[in-house]
Formats: sequence, structure tokens, C-alpha cells
Amino acid sequence: MPAVPAEQTSAATSATEKGRASSAVSKRRGTAARGRRPAASAAELPVRGDEERWTEAELAEVRTRLEAEMTALEAEIAAAETAIAQGDVSEGAGDDQADTGAKTYAREHEMALTHNFRDLLIQNERAIERMDAGTYGICESCGKPIGKARLQAFPRATLCVPCKTREERR
Ligand SMILES: [Zn+2]
Repeated sequence: MPAVPAEQTSAATSATEKGRASSAVSKRRGTAARGRRPAASAAELPVRGDEERWTEAELAEVRTRLEAEMTALEAEIAAAETAIAQGDVSEGAGDDQADTGAKTYAREHEMALTHNFRDLLIQNERAIERMDAGTYGICESCGKPIGKARLQAFPRATLCVPCKTREERR
């Protein structure tokens, strides 16, 4: 007799989703991004003249990537915050100067990482918000389509290639 009956697959998928990292960012995301169905349909999003319209599947794929990255970023932020907190605790009496210097450096490094992770997290969050609002793929500088291919490669992109190039030259 087989050990695993057919119902096995549907159970216990998202029990672990809840009660993770309690940073302000992840709380905000809870209400803003995840789980809500996009208000705008994929076919309404702008694409370049030589591109096919977005399909729901293509958009869902990009969205899933953004959400998976957000989950990973939240874990990184939590880990970095833990490292920072532990550094704070162990600092103090008994350290020689080199030790203290190394710890300060490590702490600053962790803080810089955390800052970058948060920044990326917010960029991902905004990309998903733009999907919901139906403005995903509009260049923030010139208002023209960013292009589906570019977004599939860089889902967080907010500028079309010419505008991005111009910005980088500045
Ligand atoms: Zn542009």
C-alpha cells in the first residue's frame, strides 16, 4: 500500500510565509504588494513598437522573480542586522585597538550591505506597485516604453536605455 495519498500535495504550503522578519519594510510590503491581483492587465502595459504585448504569464514570471528576490533580501537584511547587533554586544572592554578597528570595519560593512539590500527591496517593491498600477514599463524620464525585453532582463528598470545611458554619462 502506498504511503502517500493523493491529497498530500495541497497541504502546508505557506505556513512559514507569515511571521518572518518584522522590519518596517516587510510590514509595508504585506499590505502593498504580495498576493494582490494586478489591477491592470498585462496586455495594457506599454511595450516598444517592435515588441509583442506582455502576456499574463510573462508578467507573472517577472513578478514572481521580484517577489522571490524580496524574500531573499529580507533574509539578508535580517542576517546583517543580527550581525550588527551581535557586534554591538561584543564590543567594549578587553579589546585591543586592532580588534576594535576590525569590528568597526565589519560593522560598517554590514551596515552598508543592509543599506543596499533595503534599497533593492524598495526598488522591487516599487516595480510590483507599478505592475499593479498599470504603469510598469514607462520610462520615468521620457515617458516612452522601457521595452519588454529590457524589463525581462532587468525587472527593476525605471529608465529606457537611452535615458539610462544619458544618466550614466552625467
Ligand atoms: Zn526614457
